[in-house]
Amino acid sequence: MMTGMAKNDRASWLKGASNECCLLPAGVAKPWRLVLLGAPGVGKGTQAELLAQHLGACQLSTGDVFRAAKTADPCERTPALNQALDYMKRGELVPDSTVLGIVRERAKCLRCRGGFLLDGFPRTVAQAEALGELLAEHQVQLDAVVSYELPIEQIVTRLGGRRTCEKCKAVFHTLTMRPKVDGVCDHCGGALLQREDDRPESIRVRMEAYETSTRPLADYFQRQGKLVTVSAEGTPGEIFQRTLAALGA
Ligand code: AMP
Repeated sequence: MMTGMAKNDRASWLKGASNECCLLPAGVAKPWRLVLLGAPGVGKGTQAELLAQHLGACQLSTGDVFRAAKTADPCERTPALNQALDYMKRGELVPDSTVLGIVRERAKCLRCRGGFLLDGFPRTVAQAEALGELLAEHQVQLDAVVSYELPIEQIVTRLGGRRTCEKCKAVFHTLTMRPKVDGVCDHCGGALLQREDDRPESIRVRMEAYETSTRPLADYFQRQGKLVTVSAEGTPGEIFQRTLAALGA
């Protein structure tokens, strides 16, 4: 168990491969290499953080790369990245070519000796096929693909109440994970804001994108014998324990 470890800043992933992470993973008995699947709002990001702490593997979220780009100097953003931020704001999927460019640039994170937890990538069958090629190229194998399942009514409630700290990015919920003081982060005192794409009009678009493009990935990975299904009902702690049991971790 790796709890209590200093938190990695994931610089190689968030800012690009020319940046070094502040910590090199060490002492990981088994590097876990996982893909986390699930509709927006199932709590995939929270599980990725808990798993990262427990397994010592880095959370590699493509959504986080886009959010990091949003706060970076606009002069450093490529036209494709600016376009990606517009798709994101509307809740639409960013084109595969842009996403794959970003992941290919960061392929060294897939070889990281601490393992990885891919969160929000792949999201289309074309992305899954490209990931398969990248992993083969780097001689790395996936251990499993964890698919979190939750009824749609619960997804809508979870997404609508989600609030993120504008400074440290910690996630809270107006019903299930309330901060001590409304609207204020427990950890750093930052303001808690609703993500632009968690507003009702974007949620609808994101759910449609999930149904059309991402749900078929469960069958894709099932055929490869990699799929592990986990119910996303209950508290983050309960879902986490269920995930560890399903993985035998
Ligand atoms: P997430 O934080 O994973 O929910 O991602 C937020 C948004 O970033 C999504 O709604 C998409 O607009 C964009 N995005 C993130 N990852 C991908 C991906 N693999 N393919 C396409 N769009 C993505």
